[in-house]
This record gives sequence, structure tokens and C-alpha cells, in this order.
Amino acid sequence: MPSRDPVADLRRIAFLLERANESTYRVRSFRSAATTVAALPVTELAERAAAGTLGELSGVGEVTARCIAESLAGEEPVYLRRLESTEGTDLNGAARKLREALRGDCHAHSDWSDGGSPIEEMALAAVELGHEYLVLTDHSPRLTVARGLPPARLRRQLDYVAKLNDALPEGFRILTGIEVDILDDGSLDQEDALLARLDVVVGSVHSKLRDESPRMTRRMVNAIANPHLDILGHLTGRKVAAEGAGDRGHRKGHTRPPSTFDLDKVIAACLEHGKAIEINSRPDRLDPPKRMLTVAVEAGCLFSIDTDAHAPGQLDWLRYGCERAALCGVPPERVVNTWSMERLLEWAAGHSGKAVGSGRGTN
Ligand SMILES: [Zn+2]
Ligand SMILES: [Zn+2]
Repeated sequence: MPSRDPVADLRRIAFLLERANESTYRVRSFRSAATTVAALPVTELAERAAAGTLGELSGVGEVTARCIAESLAGEEPVYLRRLESTEGTDLNGAARKLREALRGDCHAHSDWSDGGSPIEEMALAAVELGHEYLVLTDHSPRLTVARGLPPARLRRQLDYVAKLNDALPEGFRILTGIEVDILDDGSLDQEDALLARLDVVVGSVHSKLRDESPRMTRRMVNAIANPHLDILGHLTGRKVAAEGAGDRGHRKGHTRPPSTFDLDKVIAACLEHGKAIEINSRPDRLDPPKRMLTVAVEAGCLFSIDTDAHAPGQLDWLRYGCERAALCGVPPERVVNTWSMERLLEWAAGHSGKAVGSGRGTN
């Protein structure tokens, strides 16, 4: 039997575990085993498999050694076969149409901030999912717990992404971006000149989530009026018990109620400035809640269906956002990541011009 590629099998297992929201620890064992094996000469790998000494390699444990041995023997690893057989059910109707219409993802993290994988691995997973682009949105400086990028590091990331793009397959591009913190007064936590250079800016509230409604409303409306902001990330900041995507990775007690603000005013600001409200697909966020999403749909808002992925396998969570969007009647043409990349970029660049032209400041 011809042998399979053990690196591809280990990576596929990691992807499926991430998608099932499994613990980072378990996923990492497969990714680090893949790295170890990829760096090894083929002959040594075969010798070790024959001698039963794969498990002595650093980064390879008992379970991963068994997977590698099975791959080399030409069999699909049992571990992988089991995971593939528990794949999620297919999407139906409107949710499926939405998912098929999505061309990319506007919110994802790499290990430059609090993500678990290098940019290139995130990009390759996006390519495999058939995306035309992935907007890289690592955190901004003040979110130190998530290793937010100070201006100098973000500049370095921009150079790095430009180089990566040269090496990536034709028809796919990493778009530059940021998940910028919306500060207490609604200003954005990054230099204006840098924000202006980025392709897409997602702005989110991560601090003082219990601010009183008038204060939170002002904060959000100011951020929406900022010409640099394109997409308002995870609207309410709530955390829910992760369902559906396998709740094994969920730690009990890590839920958080939605923040309180004047929804009508926030929606009116999004409409006035042509900004999109994110439909965050993370099983532990599912933000905005359906009742708010329905109001925003009826008001005529733009949306972006994103994963907020922190690992490659999580890029496949778009389906959860699509399911909720479909339930709330979100029309595909009002979802900015169903548009062509050119139109998306034009939109992101365009409303900043409009806002400047209309004399609106950033407060
Ligand atoms: Zn966030
Ligand atoms: Zn995020």
C-alpha cells in the first residue's frame, strides 16, 4: 500500500479538533508533531516507524506516533477516521445559500496576538476552505492580555503580509486589518496613519463592558462615526455556553451577559455612516443575539459574517453565523463578505472618504 503523508494527516486532525472547539493543548500536540515530522528526513522516519521509536522524537507522543505509523503504512489513521465520521450535518436552504455566497472572512487572529497559529497556517486553511481572502485582524496595543500589536509591530506585520502574499496561490490574498479596541471615549486604539493603511478595520469593545447604557451608546456611536472603522465587532460582548460546535472545549462559568446600550442609536449610526455590523460566528459568542439581529435586518443594516478564528480549524465556523443570519432573514447582498474583494475594498476605503468630506471628525 502506498504510504500517506503523515504531515497532512496530522494537520487535518488538528483542523478537525479546532473546528470541534477542542482544548488548545490537545490540538497543539498534533500541530507540533506535524512540525517535527515535516523537518525529518524521509529515511529516518521510515527507520523509526520500523523500529517503533517514533515516540522518542520531541513533540511526538504515544497517540501522534500511532497516527504517523498508520499514515506511513498507507492507512487512514484511526483517530482521523473517527473525527471525519463525526463531521457536522449539512446546512440547509437559506443558510447554505449564504455560506456558498461568502468569499472570505473579515475577522481572524494569528499568533502575532492571541491566536494559536502562524499567519501562513491561517492563510493556508482559508485557501483550503475556498476563500478568496482572509482579513488578518490581530489585536491593538492596549489589549495587553491578548498581546495587542504596538504600532511598530503592526508595521512589521504589514511588511510580512506583503511578502507572504507574493508566495500564496493566485486568486487568494491576505488582506491587512486589525481588531482595534474601542476605547472609553469611543476613539480607536491605534495610530490614525496606520489605520488608514489597513484594508479593513474591525472595531470592538473589550473593556468596561458593564458601562452604563448612555455611556456605552456614546462610546459605540463615536467609534462608528470614526471614518477608519468598517465593521463593528461582536456587538454586545456577551459570552454564551458553546453549543453545537462540541461543547467539550467550553469551560463552565465563562459566560457574560450582553452589554447595555441604545440599539436604535447604534443602528442609526451604522446606517448613517454605511458601516457593517458583525455577525460573530464563534459558538461561545453568537453575537448579536437574534432579537437584535432581527431589528438590524429590518432597519436595513450592512453585515459581515465572520469567524473571529483564533486557530485554522475555527475558520470553518462561518456556518454558525450563516445559520443565525438565515434565521433572522439577512439578505446575502447586504453581507459585505459576499461581495467581490474589489467591492469590499472600495467600500472600506470609500466611507472614510465620505466621512472626511462631510466634515465629520473622529471625536
Ligand atoms: Zn474581540
Ligand atoms: Zn477577535
